Amino acid sequence: MKIICIGRNYLAHVKELDNDLPTEPMFFMKPATALLLPHNPFFYPDFSKEIHYETELVLRICKPGRSIDEKFASNYYDAITVGIDFTARDLQRECKAKGHPWEIAKAFDSSAPIGEFKKISELKHPDDIAFGMKLNDEWVQQGHSCDMIFGFDKIVSHVSRFVTLKEGDYIFTGTPQGVGEVHIGDKLELFLEGESVFWFRVK
Ligand code: ZN
Repeated sequence: MKIICIGRNYLAHVKELDNDLPTEPMFFMKPATALLLPHNPFFYPDFSKEIHYETELVLRICKPGRSIDEKFASNYYDAITVGIDFTARDLQRECKAKGHPWEIAKAFDSSAPIGEFKKISELKHPDDIAFGMKLNDEWVQQGHSCDMIFGFDKIVSHVSRFVTLKEGDYIFTGTPQGVGEVHIGDKLELFLEGESVFWFRVK
């Protein structure tokens, strides 16, 4: 199993980090050890002083594919949830400044908490999926899938040109605006179509 993450996929978030607008989807990966399943706490790592949450829709791949045509891409994912792409922003800034890869800022253990998956066919609004996150019971991020720069089909097609997708792979599809820091003791609660999917604490 692998975790693929799309960067810079919502205009307002690209602007808040002062990044350039991508002309095609950009992605990076997290290893299987990054996964944090529901009902587990996130332990604040000792190598960073600035861990950011990024609330994202997460697709689950349901059959293997490579070089998938965008027209057929929707056959390759069937379920969705929300998750957090935890980012050590201080380390990421250093990596970017040095032109180094981002892995230490993105791929660390438990950096990818995800909720239970729902069938996309059972969603109320599969073409415009609302999602968000409450930090200590206050909304900090709310997004809609229709605001993505690159939609699910484009993402799946693009990634599969370079990396064969397999059943059970996950794709984090990018964060909307409103990213920010977490601190020890914080409660993060994730929502899909207005319903709470899971919550956990930072310890
Ligand atoms: Zn992200």
